[in-house]
Amino acid sequence: MATNRTFTMIKPDAVENNYIGGILKMINDAGFRIVAMKYTKLSAEAAGKFYEVHKERPFYGELVTYMSSGPIVAAILEKNNAVADFRTLIGATDPTKADEGTIRKIYAKSIAANAVHGSDSDENAQIEGDFFFSKLERF
Ligand code: UDP
Ligand code: MG
Repeated sequence: MATNRTFTMIKPDAVENNYIGGILKMINDAGFRIVAMKYTKLSAEAAGKFYEVHKERPFYGELVTYMSSGPIVAAILEKNNAVADFRTLIGATDPTKADEGTIRKIYAKSIAANAVHGSDSDENAQIEGDFFFSKLERF
C-alpha cells in the first residue's frame, strides 16, 4: 500500500556547506509537505543501525563514519507518489550521473557525500521515519 510518505536526510556534507536552506526550498517547490523534521547528529552506532541493510557492501564502514561525522536534518515528507517522486528529485546516487536540476547534481560532492538520503520503498520509508520520529512528532 502506498503511504504517500517518504523519509529524507540532509547529510553532513550538505549541512556543513550551508545547503540546508537551498535543499529545503527545492523540496517545498517540488510539492512535498513536511510531516516531521529534526536537526540532530547520529552516533556511529545509530548510523550503523540505520544503514544495516548495507552491512555487507564494501563502503559500509566509510558510510557509517561519514554519516556520524556531523549534524544532519531528518524529515518525513508527504506527497502523492512520495517515494518515487523524491527519488526523481534527488537524482542518481553518483552525482556525476545525476540528471540536471536534481538535488544531488546541484549539491552533492561525491558518491559517498551525496547531500541527501531518500527512501527506496514505502516499507523502508515507514521503517526509516520510525527510526527518528515518534507519533507525537508528526503533524
Ligand atoms: N554509497 C557509497 N558508495 C557507493 C554507493 C553508495 O558511499 O558506491 C553511499 C552513499 O552515501 C549512498 C549510500 O551509501 O547514498 C546508500 O547507498 P544506496 O545504494 O542505497 O544509494 P541511495 O539509495 O542513497 O541512492
Ligand atoms: Mg538507498
